[in-house]
Amino acid sequence: MGRDVVSSLLATATEALEREFAELPEWEPAGESHAPEAMAAVLAQTAHRLGDNYPYFHPLYAGQMLKPPHPVARAAYALAMKINPNNHARDGGRASSEMEIEAVAEIARMFGWPGGYLGHLTSSGTLANLEALWIAGQERPGKRILASKQAHYTHSRISGVLKLDFSAIAADNRGRMDLNALEDALKRGDVGTVVATLGTTAIGAVDPLPGILELSARYGVRVHVDGAYGGYFRLIGDALEESSRGAFASIDHADSIVIDPHKHGLQPYGCGCVLFKDAGVGRHYKHDSPYTYFTSKELHLGEISLECSRAGAAAVALWTTQKLLPLTCDGEFAAGLRKGRAAAKELDRRLRADAGGRFAGLAAGGPELDIVVWTVLGKSTEDRSRRAEETFAACAERGLHLALVDLPQKWFGPGHSGDTPPKTVTCLRSVLMKPEHENWLPEIWSRLSESVSRS
Ligand SMILES: *Cc1c(COP(=O)(O)O)cnc(C)c1O
Repeated sequence: MGRDVVSSLLATATEALEREFAELPEWEPAGESHAPEAMAAVLAQTAHRLGDNYPYFHPLYAGQMLKPPHPVARAAYALAMKINPNNHARDGGRASSEMEIEAVAEIARMFGWPGGYLGHLTSSGTLANLEALWIAGQERPGKRILASKQAHYTHSRISGVLKLDFSAIAADNRGRMDLNALEDALKRGDVGTVVATLGTTAIGAVDPLPGILELSARYGVRVHVDGAYGGYFRLIGDALEESSRGAFASIDHADSIVIDPHKHGLQPYGCGCVLFKDAGVGRHYKHDSPYTYFTSKELHLGEISLECSRAGAAAVALWTTQKLLPLTCDGEFAAGLRKGRAAAKELDRRLRADAGGRFAGLAAGGPELDIVVWTVLGKSTEDRSRRAEETFAACAERGLHLALVDLPQKWFGPGHSGDTPPKTVTCLRSVLMKPEHENWLPEIWSRLSESVSRS
């Protein structure tokens, strides 16, 4: 499985942590009095059960959005388990609340917000988007939410939960929000907030944020950026197309931003983040808790968060990771993003240059981030879909794990006679989000190439 440095890092750090509490009288923690053999035996069963997984940590897993946490994040998370802090209130997570505030400040700085904002971690991107749309509804009561047809499905569902009307705006043939369709919807005058997705889940499309900001300013509506997947790509604008670079560069003009450190930020699951440009929205969160806010007059994270208990360990892991790999344009963290981006461009190039002409990529252009989608050509749209499914299964047999996605057939060029739009085709999809994917691309290509359905 490759060398794993986490246990030795953790052993040293645990000794250091124990020294911090050396003053405590000796005691025997109840859980640790279990016979080690009994604990080892159930853990052996656990390891066996976990074997029933795709190898998400390996470069030949190139399917869904799964990226292994950095060893230092795993060690920090496990170290925090000695304490198991709760970042709801400083009573339950003193150091880890401070660490959360510092880690979130670094993310805010990455987006161009040095201060004046309000932000915190959440347990997921969905929860973070829920908070953003909840504030959107508080600020624009009764007004509609708009997002592109390619936006994450949770936006329409969250709007339903919040009892806000929602409309989906058409996307162009690269999966980006269509500005003409957006303006038509804004003209109705009942819109409160536009959600701009910077890095859609299906294909990594980047909505044209500068145009969305301009229209929103004209019609007086809020802009929420869903950068759950793509947010970190702001650091490598120079490696993106001009239009996507411009979108990431203008994020700081949004009213709220969501980013998922548990997607591209090298974190274990349980780490999303929401930021509001105007700290004044904190008033909507105002509540009194009779139980929790005693030990400090300073702000408790639970006072600005919809969730109550939250893993302090998630903040500890993120803080530690950002200390090692700061969020800078020229550092090692950004270098990792660049490698995935290079891998995606290379896969796209090989698909288009395929000697057998077996594939079609997006007709309007290559990947905007590090997600590649393509169809396997065939006699009809149904035949293309079937071949994609067969190729997907044949790749898995050769140890290469890809994903499938249904997209409009017309995005991949002229359809087949008899196709009536809007027709969808099942495509292959690869999220090349690990730095290792760059060096592994030739191997990925050769396994894909051998697996393509021929009949
Ligand atoms: C993943 C994703 C979400 C949802 O985030 P979770 O952390 O999975 O809850 C929302 N929006 C986009 C664009 C995403 O890619």
